[in-house]
Amino acid sequence: MRMKINNNVDINLREEFNTLTDDYGYYALLIRKSEMNCPICSSQEGQQYSGVCPSCLGIGRRIKIERIKLLGQQAAQVIATPNNSVYTNVGDIYSDAKAYYVKYDINPHVGDFIYEVSFDKFDRVVNLHGCYKIEYSEPYRMDNGRSEYKVCSTHRENTNITIKEGMLKELMKRL
Ligand SMILES: [Zn+2]
Repeated sequence: MRMKINNNVDINLREEFNTLTDDYGYYALLIRKSEMNCPICSSQEGQQYSGVCPSCLGIGRRIKIERIKLLGQQAAQVIATPNNSVYTNVGDIYSDAKAYYVKYDINPHVGDFIYEVSFDKFDRVVNLHGCYKIEYSEPYRMDNGRSEYKVCSTHRENTNITIKEGMLKELMKRL
């Protein structure tokens, strides 16, 4: 990200980032996980739940879905190929790490998910491309302490994307 750094000129990184995201970002779904067990598929203790429950997308907790705009990036050392395989001189390395950048007023938490999806012109989900679990989420702050944007580190979930996509479409129909 390019920052304008001029003497005596305030850098409004938040504004710059928001513009960048508006211009170059894409929409995805933020799946927010609550502390409450899914009432449809989860046992009272939350120990057992169905991996194929469309009410919670198999997560086992009550969830909320937000459509957000973000910037995504494969982890810096990773060369992305269609199946995320990377070849280096030490052999094959499977990498599934991805970083996301979102506006300061979006609040992703560790344990939430980012689902990469494509939408039709009515904002309905057409395809699910990947499920990423947030493992780290933190605001980027300037010297004055204000949050300018947030960064999330994620790992791609090892999940059956076809089943997940079916559940997601089912759930979105009911929202
Ligand atoms: Zn459920």
